[in-house]
Amino acid sequence: MPKSVKICPKCRSAKVHLLTNVSGWLAPQKFICMECGHSGPFFIDVDLEDLKKE
Ligand SMILES: [Zn+2]
Repeated sequence: MPKSVKICPKCRSAKVHLLTNVSGWLAPQKFICMECGHSGPFFIDVDLEDLKKE
């Protein structure tokens, strides 16, 4: 079980999905927020315990 989750840097939602890149394996991973639609490679990793406290 993973102990950390990715959250959106804009709205801090944990509803983040990994975008699969079809253009090639050299591209960095990208994520998209299901809450506000923000997408990019820079999503924050937070500990699950920290997320519960907030
Ligand atoms: Zn968001």
